[in-house]
Amino acid sequence: MNWLRASLARRMFLSYVLVIAAGALTLFLVSEAVAPTILDQRMANMMRGTGAGMMGGSGAGTMAGYADSTLRAAFRAAMLQSLLVAGGAAGLIAVLSSLFISRQVAQPVQRMVRATRRIATGQYAERLPSDLEHRGDELSDLATSFNEMAASLQQTEDRRLALVGDVAHELRTPIAMLKGNLEGLLDGVVKASPETWARLFDEAGRLERLVNDLQELSRAEAGQIALSLQPVSPSTIVHDAVDRLDSQFAEKELVLAVHVPPDLPPVRADLDRAVQVLTNLLTNALRYTPSPGRVDVDVNQQGNSVVFGVRDSGAGLSPEQLEHIFERFYRVDKSRSRALGGAGIGLTIARALVATMGGEIHAESPGLGRGSRFTFSLPIAL
Ligand code: ADP
Repeated sequence: MNWLRASLARRMFLSYVLVIAAGALTLFLVSEAVAPTILDQRMANMMRGTGAGMMGGSGAGTMAGYADSTLRAAFRAAMLQSLLVAGGAAGLIAVLSSLFISRQVAQPVQRMVRATRRIATGQYAERLPSDLEHRGDELSDLATSFNEMAASLQQTEDRRLALVGDVAHELRTPIAMLKGNLEGLLDGVVKASPETWARLFDEAGRLERLVNDLQELSRAEAGQIALSLQPVSPSTIVHDAVDRLDSQFAEKELVLAVHVPPDLPPVRADLDRAVQVLTNLLTNALRYTPSPGRVDVDVNQQGNSVVFGVRDSGAGLSPEQLEHIFERFYRVDKSRSRALGGAGIGLTIARALVATMGGEIHAESPGLGRGSRFTFSLPIAL
């Protein structure tokens, strides 16, 4: 029933038709109803006036001439008068309907202008009322888009505020730690031993990693990471990531098993970034799996994607934790995770990177203490 929707153009067109029809109708009614009466009156008046003059006149020819000119004059006067009445009535209807239509258009536009000004001053909660959204014309489409834009601006602003708060919170602990140690050194409470310097050096390194991760996160979330997407063999991704970490797995006495079928198609990905994602999942598996334990890496094709999986026999995750695992700065055990070097943004970066390469990342776990499995997909190169 789209054609029934009164678009703005159709409303304006209808208003013009209305004005023309009203004018024509008034003209017709006035000419039908008023003109004969006016004509009769004029004729009667003129006949009375000329009748007296004719009494002293002579001949039938002169009389016919008088009657003719009287009729013409009466007709002209009656027409003029009816046209004036009809024109006045049509003009009034035209003015009233134009006022109505322009109010219909101008009022919502003025409301939008006021709302836009308020948003420009930072009042992101500003919305246009729902009656504007349900008018059923182009202005309601504009009002709906306006409200969607305002909602997305508000979300961005909320995210910005949350990020600033989170970053300040994350920086506070390492800075407090550095400051405490330096104060101790100044007061002579802490000995200037190689261990103290090593501790300070570690803490500065953690800060640096955090700042680098934050920069990477903001670029990844803004889609500003330049990717060189090309056909890449899944086994190259797996072996590059595993090569980086297998010595650490061996050191922690964890079994790292890799299962890559030989006939997998190449994926369309940025090799470095894909390796970064898998390395991140493997690092987490290494961190959160106590010895003795095992981690299995598997790859398989699912539809138009290749899915990379990392299963560990470690800490596992509860359903509630699984819901938040990809949120930035989310850590299951804050103090333990910080001690292990994590700021809770590795998985957020991984998710953003996978999304920019056209894939998806998921986590599942049978429950706490029962291990977990992380998977991410990459599209097959066509
Ligand atoms: P972090 O740098 O703290 O490891 P991540 O974003 O990589 O940050 O992970 C977020 C949180 O998810 C971690 O703090 C940890 O609690 C949990 N997590 C991630 N991987 C695993 C895993 N394989 N097993 C159990 N918990 C995990």
